[in-house]
Amino acid sequence: MRFSRKSLSLLLVFVMIVGMITGCAQTDPAQTSESLAEQAEEKKVLFKPGTYMATAEGGYGGPISVSVTVSETEIEEIKVTEHKETESIGGIAISQIPEAIVKTQSLDVDAVSGATLASRTLLTAIKDALMQSGADIDKLMAAQQKEETISNTDTVRVETDVVIVGAGAAGFAAAVKINELGGSTVIVEKMPYVGGNTIRAGGAMNAADPERQNKQNMSKSEYDAILELLEIEPKNDTMKRWQDSVRADLATYNNEKSDYLYDSVDLHKLQSYVDGDYVGNVELIEYLCDHALESIHWLEGKGVEFEDEIGMVVGAIWRRSHMLVRAREMGVAIIEPLQQVAMDGETELYLQTKATELIENNGRVTGVKAVGNDGTNYEFIGAKGVIMATGGFGANIEMRQEYNTSGKWATLGEEIPTTNHPGATGDGIVMGQAIGADIIDMDQIQLMPMWPKTSGEGGHMTGVITNLMYVNENGERFVKEDGRRDEISIAALEQPGGYYWIVNDYADATDNGLKDDYLAAGVASGRCVMGNTIEELAVAMGTDPDSLKKTVEEFNRYVDGEKDPLGRSVFGKRIETGPFYASTFSPAVHHTMGGLRVNTFAQVLNNAGTPIEGLYAAGEVTGGLHGANRIGGNAVPDAIVNGMNAGENIMK
Ligand code: ADP
Repeated sequence: MRFSRKSLSLLLVFVMIVGMITGCAQTDPAQTSESLAEQAEEKKVLFKPGTYMATAEGGYGGPISVSVTVSETEIEEIKVTEHKETESIGGIAISQIPEAIVKTQSLDVDAVSGATLASRTLLTAIKDALMQSGADIDKLMAAQQKEETISNTDTVRVETDVVIVGAGAAGFAAAVKINELGGSTVIVEKMPYVGGNTIRAGGAMNAADPERQNKQNMSKSEYDAILELLEIEPKNDTMKRWQDSVRADLATYNNEKSDYLYDSVDLHKLQSYVDGDYVGNVELIEYLCDHALESIHWLEGKGVEFEDEIGMVVGAIWRRSHMLVRAREMGVAIIEPLQQVAMDGETELYLQTKATELIENNGRVTGVKAVGNDGTNYEFIGAKGVIMATGGFGANIEMRQEYNTSGKWATLGEEIPTTNHPGATGDGIVMGQAIGADIIDMDQIQLMPMWPKTSGEGGHMTGVITNLMYVNENGERFVKEDGRRDEISIAALEQPGGYYWIVNDYADATDNGLKDDYLAAGVASGRCVMGNTIEELAVAMGTDPDSLKKTVEEFNRYVDGEKDPLGRSVFGKRIETGPFYASTFSPAVHHTMGGLRVNTFAQVLNNAGTPIEGLYAAGEVTGGLHGANRIGGNAVPDAIVNGMNAGENIMK
């Protein structure tokens, strides 16, 4: 499926959060499901014929309504009668999922929906309508999809300046940069939607940004955290240089009796390196942090909006996360404007077209072979080469297990969920390796501690990260909530049942923009529990009220400045304004830090450390930057900074 500048609007898929379901049927109510079951026995009747309506409430995005028409044996038609998603955001979900279900007579349409949140809202409505018709939903979910018959065996050759594989943040950043430099690109994307993992991420971007940070204050515990960093024995000259520069800044800061939130690109580098356990490549870290703010300004120039107030996402270590104004839409708020600019320029997009191997000519990469979903074979030829931007392998259980050798995780098998989209299968790494590319840090796999357990992808019920408190099922805190993702994940997996609760209060939830009806829907659907007092909340959680009350009291004292024995340094508000909320979370595979080895010019290196001519890579497909632990909020800057970097260098 090819898109160029005229046909942009329908590509992004997304969004929001499945909540309460309401439904009604336009059919004979006298016929009971019991009698239907009897009939089904006799005549293989699957449905009670009729047209059924249902609505699934999206948490933020508004309701999606459907009408589903069934005969006794077939789903005949599905119409989306109401949705409030913008065309470009809900486009693929709205247009393709109903068609795919009717075609395959199956509800197992992950390949089309990409299991994105908007798709789930739509699927919930469809399932509810079908339930009214007496359908066996489990059977429909398990129904095998018929294999697509390959109807086209011709090879189509497409020529451009640069072929980009993958339409995530890195791919689009590269495309836009190349267009700016006068080049043309073709983006090859295997999924039916763009945005990869980027549209599933919060989209926060770390960068030292004095203009914004100087307006906020630094706490004593934050100041002490910097002093601790400066006391670490430097591992090499580069780390010493970063420490010296921060030390000099702090001397000035003290002389001037400042109280603003201090930051610098060198502090960003130091924290990325130290919290990556000194495994990250210092040159790649330098490149990222030196260009992070520039990439934010570049995105702002494309219409991406960031809040003035700086925040801190989970595992970010420091308050330098730039939060999206359109935070409800997550990474879509980055991808959509970038895609718009790319498609207005010299970029063509092929969706549902999977790159399968790199094409080489006299030791130089000149293109990729790919196959479309209708079986069409393609050869995409790039006069200047290929940029691999295929993301990581978080959704590839075999690869996860193969490379799970760090000793950090007992297993990364299917019992551990992933936050990733189903296309994150490491294809770019495998294609690179096939032509001699080197790989690095493949065993470094990050789990996101904060993955909703009861709701799956149903959306977070929590508020601002700096306000939250984590407790186990005994109502006790077990980890510093502002710590590293791996430390929180390891600690969480050690708790009874391998899960934990995040506790917050009404002031926090509303601080984060969660509305009353969203919270009520969350409670009604079981995504969170609620109590007007802490004791009531404890009962709803099934935990000991005295224990939870004691934990909250202690927590509030740490917010007020008492030293937290677990070592947390960043605190926001006290937990004191009822009603109180709690939801369960467990860790999920989130980011694969290993991948293709690259240099600071985004060139892919072979086993001898020499660049492979014509082959560049950016984003999560690359390895070496984040070391043993990617700091929260460093992934999107990686994709944007290095996507731009790859675009610039391939054009040179
Ligand atoms: P990044 O953040 O590094 O840009 P994303 O996960 O956001 O990574 O995007 C990577 C994109 O690459 C996804 O949309 C994914 O579907 C796509 N992709 C992965 N493998 C292939 C492939 N073999 N052919 C085409 N696209 C691919």
